Amino acid sequence: MTSQEILTILKNKGFRVTKTRQLILTVLEQLSAPVSEHELRLKMGTTVNKTTVYRELEFLKQQRFITELDFGEGKKRYELGSRHHHHVICTNCNTVEHVDIPNDLKSIEQNLSRKNKFKISGHALEFFGLCQNCQK
Ligand SMILES: [Zn+2]
Ligand SMILES: [Zn+2]
Ligand SMILES: [Zn+2]
Repeated sequence: MTSQEILTILKNKGFRVTKTRQLILTVLEQLSAPVSEHELRLKMGTTVNKTTVYRELEFLKQQRFITELDFGEGKKRYELGSRHHHHVICTNCNTVEHVDIPNDLKSIEQNLSRKNKFKISGHALEFFGLCQNCQK
């Protein structure tokens, strides 16, 4: 979904399309990797208040237009879209790539459900290591 499509949906739902809301979506759309709130604010290039950006991110997350990710860095990252996928993260240069897992973890989830009598609603899985450049 493009930022423009998201803005149209929000408008149709009766939500206000503020400059900040618009800018956050446009910036996220241009980025190839998930960013933290701080990185996002730097890329936005304007002096937007931190609280405002967090409030916007929370709103967009609840509307399921962006996904919040936790790579165990002590900060959350955000990316546009809510399609389920995973990431490979370089621990040296912090490059992040989006990856799909064939069949994902369906059979693992089914086994867990059975063994632990647990109703699983989802999972998060990220891979850490060295990217091609950093292996040299
Ligand atoms: Zn790297
Ligand atoms: Zn991703
Ligand atoms: Zn998955």
